[in-house]
Amino acid sequence: MHSSVIDRHLQSFVESCRRHGLKITPQRVAVYRALLESDQHPTADAMFQTVKLTYPHISFDTVNRTLLTFAEIGLVDVVEVFGGPKRFDPDTGDHHHLHCVACGRIIDFIHEGYNGLDVPDAIASKFKVISKRVVLKGLCDKCTGGRP
Ligand SMILES: [Zn+2]
Ligand SMILES: [Zn+2]
Repeated sequence: MHSSVIDRHLQSFVESCRRHGLKITPQRVAVYRALLESDQHPTADAMFQTVKLTYPHISFDTVNRTLLTFAEIGLVDVVEVFGGPKRFDPDTGDHHHLHCVACGRIIDFIHEGYNGLDVPDAIASKFKVISKRVVLKGLCDKCTGGRP
């Protein structure tokens, strides 16, 4: 994420913590910032490895619990994964994902056409849809050498 976008997110992070009575600790800020700076949709373990560099005494458990708390208050999304550990997404806005089946990268993309997809009657008549995300599976540019 661009640094101005990160600043904007950090601001709403502070507001969101206050609203939910969550103390704003340096560790929580570090976990959130590291998540914003990563475009990898990282796992709790990957976040732990990153945050540990600045806070050598932080435990995996703290990082993991912090991420789950963020998800609970809607500050981050838990990414749809097909087996394997949970992955986290700091972008809770409308966007879609391409999952690379070879290396596991998840690439964000925006597409108005997908945002506007109709919900089938069979679903709309029974269920309440609160968000829509299109998930594509394939190979990323690194895995194809840039030639799809
Ligand atoms: Zn790949
Ligand atoms: Zn995403």
